[in-house]
Amino acid sequence: MERILVVEDSPEIASLMSLTLRMEGYGVVTASTGARALQLIAADKPSLILMDVMMPGLTGFQVAEQLKGDDATRDIPIIFVTARHEVDDRVQGLEVAVDYISKPFAVPELLARVRAALRMQKLQSELKASNDQLSKLAITDPLTGLYNRRGFDAQLEDELHRARRFRQPLGLVVFDLDRFKSVNDSYGHAQGDMVLQSFAEALLNLSRRVDKVARFGGEEFAVLLPNTDEVGAKIFAEKVRIAVEDTPISCPSCGLGKTISVTVSGGVAVLVPSTGANNDGHVPLSITRLAEGLFEMADAHLYRAKQGGRNRIETQSANEVEVARFASAANP
Ligand code: GH3
Ligand code: MG
Ligand code: MG
Ligand code: MG
Repeated sequence: MERILVVEDSPEIASLMSLTLRMEGYGVVTASTGARALQLIAADKPSLILMDVMMPGLTGFQVAEQLKGDDATRDIPIIFVTARHEVDDRVQGLEVAVDYISKPFAVPELLARVRAALRMQKLQSELKASNDQLSKLAITDPLTGLYNRRGFDAQLEDELHRARRFRQPLGLVVFDLDRFKSVNDSYGHAQGDMVLQSFAEALLNLSRRVDKVARFGGEEFAVLLPNTDEVGAKIFAEKVRIAVEDTPISCPSCGLGKTISVTVSGGVAVLVPSTGANNDGHVPLSITRLAEGLFEMADAHLYRAKQGGRNRIETQSANEVEVARFASAANP
């Protein structure tokens, strides 16, 4: 049931409004002062507020301003119901309210405006929910729920700015499951997907809340480790490698109680704060170039791990100038 809060200092008008609204099937709560209204709203958010302007204590405009200043109450629609009818008042009221009704009001008009405000509110919250959903989908890998490449790139950019600003190291680990094609070939694509999902879960369990975890499609994953040096990043990557090696994954299609084992290789690139000595007199390197350099550097070490026999982690740390050398010349 839609709950409507009526804020009105005149008991006669308040009871007329609440009676009218109740007969239409709305739930109604009344407050005779602005302060009381704020208490009621804090306790339980109404779907709509019908509010008088002239009241002892806080005016309706003041109450509305407080509500608009708070994220929790900003979206509650307000209709002012008032005897004041000068143009200025209406304009001021409509800055914060969705509608404005003059007293004395005709009951059908009051109800029509209430219905319109509730309808508009419903549309807006549906629109907001679907926008939120779309923005989340745009940065999420559907198979694992981790960040996708686009989401991860945005996080990497933020963390590079942060690392530079606070002179902290930033670790990037890229993981690639070993001989994953043979998992698909032997057990089927669906089982392959289950392996990818359980690897994603392991990454989430082993990383910290502040770390950012992504899957870039296929069997490639990345983890960003803020404020983590080469020693710390290596400890994390080894923890993941060993957990994968030691944890058989259930394989329902292989037979009762059967499991399969996989291994993973990783390349670690850590950006360490520059001393300044290497970049004297140069313009600061662009964040996109650093991001690309860090990826190329981690990839180079992943390649070394694969070449070295797989089920391994290779690491390197470097300052901004050295990291940027890994980026393609095309990226200034
Ligand atoms: P390496 O040790 O060199 O990494 O060998 P690999 O077989 O893992 O490497 P390669 O890159 O040649 O093969 C990756 C395979 O990952 C190819 C494909 O079968 C599989 N793959 C890619 N995307 C998906 C996916 O979304 N689901 C599943 N199940 N498999 C995928
Ligand atoms: Mg009044
Ligand atoms: Mg691969
Ligand atoms: Mg692979």
